Amino acid sequence: MPATEKAGARPGRHATALLAEADRLMTVCNSCRYCEGLCAVFPAMELRRAFPDGDLNYLANLCHSCGACYVDCQFSPPHEFDVNVPRVLAQVRAESYAAYAWPSALAPMFARNGLAISIVAALSVAAFILGFAAWHDPAALFGTHTGPGAFYKLMPHNAMVVLFGAAFLYAILALVMGVRTFYRDIGDPVAPAFEPRALWRAIRDASTLRYLDGGGIGCYNHDERPNDRRRFYHHQTFYGFMLCFASTCVATFYHYALHRVAPYPWWDLPVVLGTIGGIGLIFGPLGLMIAKLRRDPAMQDEQRLGMDLAFLAMLFLTSLTGLLLLVLRATPAMPLLLALHLGVVFALFITLPYGKFVHGIYRFAALVRYAREHQAFGQGGAQ
Ligand code: SF4
Ligand code: SF4
Repeated sequence: MPATEKAGARPGRHATALLAEADRLMTVCNSCRYCEGLCAVFPAMELRRAFPDGDLNYLANLCHSCGACYVDCQFSPPHEFDVNVPRVLAQVRAESYAAYAWPSALAPMFARNGLAISIVAALSVAAFILGFAAWHDPAALFGTHTGPGAFYKLMPHNAMVVLFGAAFLYAILALVMGVRTFYRDIGDPVAPAFEPRALWRAIRDASTLRYLDGGGIGCYNHDERPNDRRRFYHHQTFYGFMLCFASTCVATFYHYALHRVAPYPWWDLPVVLGTIGGIGLIFGPLGLMIAKLRRDPAMQDEQRLGMDLAFLAMLFLTSLTGLLLLVLRATPAMPLLLALHLGVVFALFITLPYGKFVHGIYRFAALVRYAREHQAFGQGGAQ
């Protein structure tokens, strides 16, 4: 039965049928309240008597999709109430990414942001870099290049900075504009946005993935035995990404402040950070992809599975090409591997604001909002 035809759904009050269905579920849950100790969604829901679209987007992004409320619910299918909170909130979440995208004309990219587009973009940029090298200095494509400046035989450092700096700055701008609209829409009547205590609590909750534990017993995935594997893979992915980012920052500092030119020896800080982060970005995304493909389809938004897998695959490929480049950088394979690695990084940057990456940003904003509500109302439930 379509979501809007279900008893209690109020389509006229909402922008989409999914938001109407989320309103129906939250109204049922608000009467039941059996799950209030499981996560932050239910205590936040209990503060409300009505659910406008902004609040539903807030609750959806607060949900970590642990599945506990689906497994515990006495009204989940085949019950006629058809309460499936993880799936409906996952669908609303995905819709919210497109709704807040900047510029809005690019919102349809969320629907099309599949692996094929990312790989075509990566190969196109790799081909462009190889073509640039062939035109500029064909000898750079062949032979073995070692020592400081070896990477820049393919493409001068300044050209790389312009190309990747522009892509990175665009991604940051699009993400900031999107999250700004989201934060305004989820409403924050309590205090200024950067209240330090709330911010600290949100950082703690996000960095420990506090609400991906099903209320303490772990996350449900493909059967009714909860475990912490998804949280572990999420941590590997997140901290792997942060270490790789730190490696790039240190390398930039070396280049401009210390005038030390890449590539660096294996024991040097950018390489150590990048290697540890890269290993995390191999196993984390791989584990998450396997968990996603094995997950009970009843609990996930299968229509957007392609978007999730595309992002994980791009992280995996970024790391794989980076680690291969590290191992083979003193061989004739270096120019090809460097072009491939740069192509994948570029494709990752430009798809960041229109793919699954935004879930981390919106979820953090929702956690800030939750921490501020919690402070203001001194509420019980999931602490
Ligand atoms: S998910 Fe089910 S059991 Fe949990 S609060 Fe909602 S209706 Fe009640
Ligand atoms: S975080 Fe888990 S328990 Fe909470 S709403 Fe989402 S799926 Fe349900």
